[in-house]
Amino acid sequence: MNGKDSDMTRKSPRVAIVGGGISALTCAVDLKEKGFDFTIFEKENSAGGKLLTEKIGGLVVEGGPDSYLPEKVWSVQLIRKIGLAGDMLCSNDDFKGTFIYSGGRLHRLPEGVMLMVPTMIMPLATSSLISWPGKIRMGMELFVPRRKDHKDESLADFVTRRLGRECLEKIAEPLVAGIHTSNPVNMSVLAIFPRFIDMEQKSGSLIKGMVKAMKQMPPPNPSGPPMTYFMSLKEGMQELAHRCVSHIGAERVKTGAAVVSVVKNEKGYRLAFGDGTTADFDAVVLATPSYITKDILKDVDRELCDRLSAIEWSSTATITLAFRKEDIKKPLRGFGFIVPRVENRRLNACTWSSIKWSYRAPEDTLLIRCFVGGGHHEELVSLNDEELLGVVLEELREIVGIAAKPVVFKVYRWFRGMPKYTVGHLGRIAAIDEKLKAHRGLYLIGCSYRGIGIGDCVKSGFDAAAAVEALRP
Ligand SMILES: Cc1cc2nc3c(=O)[nH]c(=O)nc-3n(C[C@H](O)[C@H](O)[C@H](O)COP(=O)(O)OP(=O)(O)OC[C@H]3O[C@@H](n4cnc5c(N)ncnc54)[C@H](O)[C@@H]3O)c2cc1C
Repeated sequence: MNGKDSDMTRKSPRVAIVGGGISALTCAVDLKEKGFDFTIFEKENSAGGKLLTEKIGGLVVEGGPDSYLPEKVWSVQLIRKIGLAGDMLCSNDDFKGTFIYSGGRLHRLPEGVMLMVPTMIMPLATSSLISWPGKIRMGMELFVPRRKDHKDESLADFVTRRLGRECLEKIAEPLVAGIHTSNPVNMSVLAIFPRFIDMEQKSGSLIKGMVKAMKQMPPPNPSGPPMTYFMSLKEGMQELAHRCVSHIGAERVKTGAAVVSVVKNEKGYRLAFGDGTTADFDAVVLATPSYITKDILKDVDRELCDRLSAIEWSSTATITLAFRKEDIKKPLRGFGFIVPRVENRRLNACTWSSIKWSYRAPEDTLLIRCFVGGGHHEELVSLNDEELLGVVLEELREIVGIAAKPVVFKVYRWFRGMPKYTVGHLGRIAAIDEKLKAHRGLYLIGCSYRGIGIGDCVKSGFDAAAAVEALRP
């Protein structure tokens, strides 16, 4: 991998992209379109990072993400660029519905609750999930004065202030903090939900702001492809990575290539690899998690690395189980259920994958996916497979009454898999950006910084490609 000398005077800079997750692959797709000379270096034997789909028998098993949000338009833009639009998969919304475990049973999330904001009166009024005082407190949100200062606030403080404690514990925490595998007590509302702050400031109320936003939503485009709130891909989410690789050319993706360090020299950047070789580039896009990036950059800028160290991470595991449908005696409702932290259970959530999505399992099989760790009982992630299976089966029996034995099970552990955007996150990102100004041609992208979801990661890849383009003389 000993590279040719780099040359900043060359018309098009040579670019190294470190890491082969979706942020890196997006950047590469865009750099190819812009005519750059680039190489991706990925430490594992295949690209995709957290996009990990396995075909087990007739099952399509997702180890990492199972969907993307089309409202974050960048994912759909990428999918179109790489010719995958025909494989976009809607969720089976005839069965849609989220259930929340509370007080020993499952309750349907009232219709019209958008993230955590109620937008319809009757479904909330008739809901068994929230007590009457809790419902009245949620309705009082319309009269809570807007906050005057623009300081960051924890999700817990924000929701308690606007919608009340019961909404925090039964809706916002499991629905919102759960997705981010974080604790609402220290999650930054400014980093994760700038939209809510905006609604509070502009409309004076989240309920008013959300109703207004829904009215302004463009009607579905009848000539466009059908869309649901969550979308996936027929072959599973890793197909996105596979198709990016074939689009950019497999020869430009070096797998089994762990980057150990980057040093800056008068010509640009020298990458050192795990096998002792080096290669020179004019620009480097680091698409690795912040805790790895800080080690790679230790010889470039100590202060920058200290700032990267301040980003915390949480660990989670997903456990996929396949059952024979005939063994499941209880009807399964909605797309699955979530468990509030205050219930102190060991399971965080469960998705009925083969009900939510087509093409996931044969007709006679039910595929489900359980989540543990993150904001609740993170220690469970370190259990061995059999122990984790035992925990999950016990929880499923007690929560939904599934007593059957699975015919297949598969565990995926994601140690330090999700960054936690804690209060002050945006300030820390601004401080990192400030330091990066001193390093022309060095870019940091991916889930560590400006959004955890696939859409935000894709956007970070597009943004990096645009920044690289600006280097052209
Ligand atoms: C269990 C789980 C479920 C999720 N579900 C969803 C979902 O349904 N929808 C959604 O939008 N988001 C979801 N997310 C979040 C989303 O999947 C991730 O935030 C996103 O995929 C991260 O992409 P990335 O490009 O930042 O990095 P990653 O995917 O983490 O890629 C980083 C890459 O860098 C490589 N690397 C590390 N060190 C080195 C090195 N030294 N040299 C070279 N390469 C290196 C790694 O091997 C990896 O391939 C989920 C995440 C998890 C963990």
